Amino acid sequence: MEPLRSADLSRALINASRKEATSLKVPFDLETVPWERLDYLGFSDPKSPQRAYLFVPVDQQVIGAILRVTPASRNQALCSWCEDVTETTGVRMFTAKRAGAAGRSGNTVGTLLHADFSCSQHVRRKPTSFEGKHDPDRFMADRITALKLHAEQFMRRVSTQV
Ligand SMILES: [Zn+2]
Repeated sequence: MEPLRSADLSRALINASRKEATSLKVPFDLETVPWERLDYLGFSDPKSPQRAYLFVPVDQQVIGAILRVTPASRNQALCSWCEDVTETTGVRMFTAKRAGAAGRSGNTVGTLLHADFSCSQHVRRKPTSFEGKHDPDRFMADRITALKLHAEQFMRRVSTQV
C-alpha cells in the first residue's frame, strides 16, 4: 500500500468521534513501516489495548476504522482476512461501529482477524507441499488479492456502502 502520514490516519477514520480522531497516536514510526509489503495497516492502542485501528486502501483512498477486540479465547480460528491455515492462533473477533447514524444506534460489524495484524506476512509465505506446488508465485499473488478483497469488503460494511 502507499505510505501514510499521521495526519492521513486521523482523517481516514470513518467511525470515530472528532475527539477519538484527534487523539489517535501511532505507537511506532510510520517512516519505518514496510509499506510495499503491507495490504493494510493495523495497530492496537498502547494505552487501551482493547482498541485497535485499521487502515485499508479502498478505491484509491484509505478508509480507517476504530475496532474493539474481544478477549482471547483458547480456541484456534481461521482469520477471515488472510485465511491462513497454518497460523490459526492469535486470531480474535474484532468489531467496528458502523459509520454515521447506523453506528450511533449501536450497529456494528465483526470479523475474525489476526490480533497482531500480521495477515500481509501470512499471504506472502511459501506454499506448503499441498498448496500451489506447481506455481508458488501464483499461489502468493492469489492470496494477496484475496486479502485485499476481504479487507476492502469489511471496510465497505463499516462505511455502510456494501
Ligand atoms: Zn490474518
